[in-house]
Amino acid sequence: MGKATGFIEYERKTAPGRNPADRVKDWKEYTTVLPEKELSIQGARCMDCGTPFCHTGQMIGGTPSGCPLYNLIPEWNDLVYRGRWKEALDRLVKTNNFPEFTGRVCPAPCEGSCTVAISDPAVAIKSIEKSIIDKGFEEGWIVPNPPKRRSGKRVAVVGSGPAGLAAADQLNKAGHLVTVFERDDRIGGLLMYGIPSMKLEKESVERRVNLLKNEGIEFIVNTTIGKDITKEQLKEEYDAVILCAGAQTHRDIMIEGRDADGIHLAMEYLTKSIKGLLDQTDENVISAEGKNVIVIGGGDTGADCVATAIRQGAKSVVQFGKHEQQPEVRQGSNPWPQFPNTFTLDYAYAEAAAIYGEDPREYLISTKRFVADENGKLKELHTVRMEKTYHEDGGYTLTEIPGSEEVWSVELVLVAIGFSGTDMPLASHFGVDTTARNTVKAKYGKYNTNEEGIFAAGDMRRGQSLVVWAIHEGREAARETDRFLMGETKLP
Ligand SMILES: Cc1cc2nc3c(=O)[nH]c(=O)nc-3n(C[C@H](O)[C@H](O)[C@H](O)COP(=O)(O)OP(=O)(O)OC[C@H]3O[C@@H](n4cnc5c(N)ncnc54)[C@H](O)[C@@H]3O)c2cc1C
Ligand code: SF4
Repeated sequence: MGKATGFIEYERKTAPGRNPADRVKDWKEYTTVLPEKELSIQGARCMDCGTPFCHTGQMIGGTPSGCPLYNLIPEWNDLVYRGRWKEALDRLVKTNNFPEFTGRVCPAPCEGSCTVAISDPAVAIKSIEKSIIDKGFEEGWIVPNPPKRRSGKRVAVVGSGPAGLAAADQLNKAGHLVTVFERDDRIGGLLMYGIPSMKLEKESVERRVNLLKNEGIEFIVNTTIGKDITKEQLKEEYDAVILCAGAQTHRDIMIEGRDADGIHLAMEYLTKSIKGLLDQTDENVISAEGKNVIVIGGGDTGADCVATAIRQGAKSVVQFGKHEQQPEVRQGSNPWPQFPNTFTLDYAYAEAAAIYGEDPREYLISTKRFVADENGKLKELHTVRMEKTYHEDGGYTLTEIPGSEEVWSVELVLVAIGFSGTDMPLASHFGVDTTARNTVKAKYGKYNTNEEGIFAAGDMRRGQSLVVWAIHEGREAARETDRFLMGETKLP
């Protein structure tokens, strides 16, 4: 329970992160850590509230509230307060296969629903989670732990993102022989090629993959299921298949001038940047060096493009969002324990402010057309400002403001306007039903598709989401696959 009066005595403190002006000179993680003594004080702020919403993991108001992994947060807060780190680690890994990922990149819906957060800043749950797992690795407490017995059953997992990795880990623990197939040249899905290194260094993905290999999981890269290996071949060799191929079909902006040279999809840009760093070559990297850059799309993928462009030496960076700036404090329509939809200065924006002197975000703005020079190279982007009108039913309309047209000089545009679903040809190759949102149809909690022995989890089932939900679904799909294979299951 932490210290009974801790939340009254101590203020929330999280590690400040490296200086934004310095950290943009490299690609290392931007976060820092609090000393153990400080973390213990943060653990003491957990108030033994009786009904901890922080680990309830449910959707409220369309957003996650509480930890989707049902992490035993009050228990490990208390153990950290008492300096019992090894026991805190034992509790943490009971519910979370990969705390080193969530401790770095999770938006922490747990903190939004922390009881202290009703009136004060939340307990620093995410910082504590990261420190527990990092200490676990540093102390050598995390070692390969292969299963004692094998069941004789074989499972194929398609896709090696957090959903596929969590499913594989759980099924391997249950004694099944698991093979993970990945079309890319490295394992990790968006953990590897998507989330930039300054949020999640790739060494920590590789460290986890090596651990899983040493526990008996087989990984096969550079192999596209549906092309290099068919469904029939998989079904012949494996007793069950779990589809975890993500939802990476990119939305594009099909307006006048789109074919100008210098307009790229965010995922192509981010993936090539990360791959260039890992392979130590600039050959295929799309560089922002010396360019005026505009990122279209106000979400997190857009923020990652901003931070990447700054590190590449962009001359200027602006990010367009279609919505208004979030309010500074929760509104009545967004009460606790919902995820707080409030204004935050994400790492990328702090960096842009440090380098260019201002927050790069432009709100309520719409791109009308692109203009290229006589060589086909992008030179201008034309916009108009929008007005948002809310309706009584909660819906809204966006209308253009006459006379608000602007022309922006630009040499590189990155399109980050979201994703439209999963790889539909892959779904149809497997003969699985799909939804109107272009995801695979499989009931939440059951994960079985209309095809016997074929399950689906993560973004491929849920649509583009979060790492923590992908791990949650991978774990649950493993449980249902185990039940299918053995008639019963002990997996959580
Ligand atoms: C740029 C970006 C930044 C993000 N940042 C965050 C963040 O900070 N925090 C957060 O919580 N979430 C973040 N997300 C979302 C998060 O990464 C995803 O929700 C999560 O990775 C989904 O996991 P998944 O395993 O379902 O799919 P993915 O991670 O997409 O993995 C799917 C894998 O399947 C492989 N695959 C596809 N088809 C085949 C095939 N036919 N054969 C073999 N392999 C195949 C793909 O190559 C890929 O490796 C971010 C997303 C993006 C795009
Ligand atoms: S996984 Fe995310 S929601 Fe769960 S405890 Fe960690 S930071 Fe909070």
